[in-house]
Amino acid sequence: MITVVGSYNIDIILKVNKIPEIGETVIADEVYMNHGGKGSNQAVSASRLGSRVKIVAAVGNDNYGKNAIEFWKTENIDISDVKIKNNVSTGTAYIFVDKRGRNVIVVNRGANYHLTEEDISESLDGNILLTQLEIRENVVKKALKEFNGIRILNPAPAVLKDTDILSLTDIITPNEIEFKELVSTDDLEYGLHLLLKKVKRAVIITLGERGALLATKDGKRTLIPAPKVNVVDETGAGDVFNAALAVYLEKEYDLETAVEYANKVAALSVTKIGALGPKLEEVNKFLEEI
Ligand code: ATP
Repeated sequence: MITVVGSYNIDIILKVNKIPEIGETVIADEVYMNHGGKGSNQAVSASRLGSRVKIVAAVGNDNYGKNAIEFWKTENIDISDVKIKNNVSTGTAYIFVDKRGRNVIVVNRGANYHLTEEDISESLDGNILLTQLEIRENVVKKALKEFNGIRILNPAPAVLKDTDILSLTDIITPNEIEFKELVSTDDLEYGLHLLLKKVKRAVIITLGERGALLATKDGKRTLIPAPKVNVVDETGAGDVFNAALAVYLEKEYDLETAVEYANKVAALSVTKIGALGPKLEEVNKFLEEI
């Protein structure tokens, strides 16, 4: 089983002609909502690839929270460790997108920041732990410390205050921006050296269309390319990559092979709109085609 300890947000997307200035009122041409949050996106994407997935997350006692739980159920995710928090709203991201696709985002972390160490203490079973930084760091730390299996940290968003967290991590999966933020240097090899001194097993830097760089403690560096695809929407590629990595590691593939598959699944996901990953059947079809 893959256990995801992470966030849920309802994304409220407002399409506007123009992003408002301070004091300005604008009219939205279109409004729609998507399930989001890195924890939820990664859990759903892993479940769609056929793994047993449990989500450990908090939502508010409101309609958004109820909808999140119903959504997870339809995606075959174990919701037995989801906490419903009174007097706090479900995490919400307000996303304004203008005609040119530029956006501004305001996040109300809501219930995500009310998930406590106590809430997760009975929930840390499974073979693979997948966690991110959209919940409190002390909760991430507790999960990593107490989990008995492979621990993957996707350090997104790129803010990590307690660097002791790194030494509790087996595999860390930053994108290029998060990597620079973690190591505070532009020197790739020196940055890898710094990070590999701390994490237990490997650093995987995702590189968008270029695929991913796998760096392990024995000094090996492998650039694993992603297949070339027609890009439609790159949103959430990182979440799909992390989900697929967890899925293939759970199947006991070696790291390099798991990254190869993760690249392929994430590449397939950018050919479609939306942040959630493809289903196993679509992946199998794609694997035959490439
Ligand atoms: P996001 O913030 O959009 O979720 P990210 O910045 O976290 O993404 P990226 O490094 O952009 O992550 O992409 C993650 C993975 O998705 C890459 O390692 C690659 O496997 C796949 N990918 C992303 N963009 C492309 C692309 N244009 N073509 C093929 N594969 C892609």
